[in-house]
Amino acid sequence: MTHSHPTFAPGFQVKPWWWEAAEPPDRDTPLPDRAEVAIVGGGYAGLSAALTLRRLGHQAVVLDAERIGWGASSRNGGMVSGGLKVATGDLAKRYGAEEAKRIALTCAASLPFIEETIAREGIDCDYLRCGRYVGAWTPKHHDAMAKRADWLAEVTGLPTEMVPKARQRDFLGSDHYHGGMAAAATGSLHPGKYARGLAAAAERAGATLVDQLRVKGIARQGSFFRIVTDKGEMLADAVLVATNGYSLDRRGTASPWLARRLVPLNSYIIATEELPPETIDRLFPGRRMISDSKRVLNYFRPSPDGKRVLWGGRASFRAATAEQSAPVLHATMVETFPELRDTRITHAWTGMVAFTFDGLPHIGVQDGVHYAAGCQGSGVAMATWLGHNAATKLAGAANERFALDGLNFPTRPTYTGNPWFLPIVGSYYQLRDRLDRMAA
Ligand SMILES: Cc1cc2nc3c(=O)[nH]c(=O)nc-3n(C[C@H](O)[C@H](O)[C@H](O)COP(=O)(O)OP(=O)(O)OC[C@H]3O[C@@H](n4cnc5c(N)ncnc54)[C@H](O)[C@@H]3O)c2cc1C
Repeated sequence: MTHSHPTFAPGFQVKPWWWEAAEPPDRDTPLPDRAEVAIVGGGYAGLSAALTLRRLGHQAVVLDAERIGWGASSRNGGMVSGGLKVATGDLAKRYGAEEAKRIALTCAASLPFIEETIAREGIDCDYLRCGRYVGAWTPKHHDAMAKRADWLAEVTGLPTEMVPKARQRDFLGSDHYHGGMAAAATGSLHPGKYARGLAAAAERAGATLVDQLRVKGIARQGSFFRIVTDKGEMLADAVLVATNGYSLDRRGTASPWLARRLVPLNSYIIATEELPPETIDRLFPGRRMISDSKRVLNYFRPSPDGKRVLWGGRASFRAATAEQSAPVLHATMVETFPELRDTRITHAWTGMVAFTFDGLPHIGVQDGVHYAAGCQGSGVAMATWLGHNAATKLAGAANERFALDGLNFPTRPTYTGNPWFLPIVGSYYQLRDRLDRMAA
């Protein structure tokens, strides 16, 4: 297929740049007849759950409709946050100060957990504790961030630093934002290598990984669960559904109950051609991960080899392809980094994230089936952490209640998992972003 646009480099591909080094491999594992625990979804959550279950002495079979790690887990931006997004002061209004603190601390604990997992399993995924800079879209956003930074510091002890616009160039090679917030307790990795490494760790521990097999239904049969797939059936003592942003598509869903509680959304990324190291050092001093405070946010970073800019965002709330979205992302990148006007794009891709109606990730059990999902587009550390905690609970090995377990998991009347309202809500958010900026 030929792709043409002035921003596309020769050889432009619609494919995650990460897959150049770590494309999810095909497996040829047959579906077993029986499993102690069947895990639906082979992303970070499912793989992390399988690893923990094996370590606790349980047999685990991971089933994925595509290839293991093929979903968001090998497509994301590789920014590793310690629950920065979830932990907000609003939690206290909803849950009271004590429970809000428990939730915030639980989210923050995802960072040390992923760091320990990577170190313990020897996963080669370019992990770096590089820090994050969040640019303020307006001066008001900067004030709101300062309040949030105070709350985070008080409740979780997470170190953050408010940066005025005058000092922004120490953190980001652009004047596009009104200062921002630097968060040291965050990192970066190569998501494709991490997905591959986590799968290898689960397999080494004895988990069975079965790919290209879609779960079409889960039904109780006596004390077992019957897992119906497009390639046969399996019985399991217990089931964990970890399908996140891919929970529902035209072909159906493994769990209608879960699909009704998740709002799937496309996120898009482009990779630029290689740039000189001095350009990358100027644009990304300290090689930090960058995001911003817009309602429709941008997130961007240098590639782990320090040669390219990877730029992500919600280029469209309609069903746009990665190819259609790429020039939109390129234009947004040039607004922030005008010197990249003539830098072309070599790769563009998209993947699905899952939001929830209460803004929180969840684990829990419904009709005997466990679930772990809803990372709000920020799940590298969180999905790993949710999968581990869902597995610990399932194995009856949890010492205390995980703060994101069993919370009320809201849906909306008549909502079945197809977010028809996104183009409307998305356009409204984009308009609000523009108006806020004009007012500033
Ligand atoms: C473009 C993009 C950028 C992102 N950037 C970041 C970032 O920088 N930092 C960050 O923290 N997070 C980021 N995220 C979010 C992060 O990638 C996800 O939160 C995380 O990977 C979710 O992992 P998961 O295991 O829950 O789901 P996934 O990795 O999406 O895995 C779900 C799996 O379920 C399978 N599946 C679905 N239905 C079935 C079925 N019926 N039968 C069998 N299998 C099924 C799918 O094939 C898929 O492989 C980004 C996501 C995207 C898409």
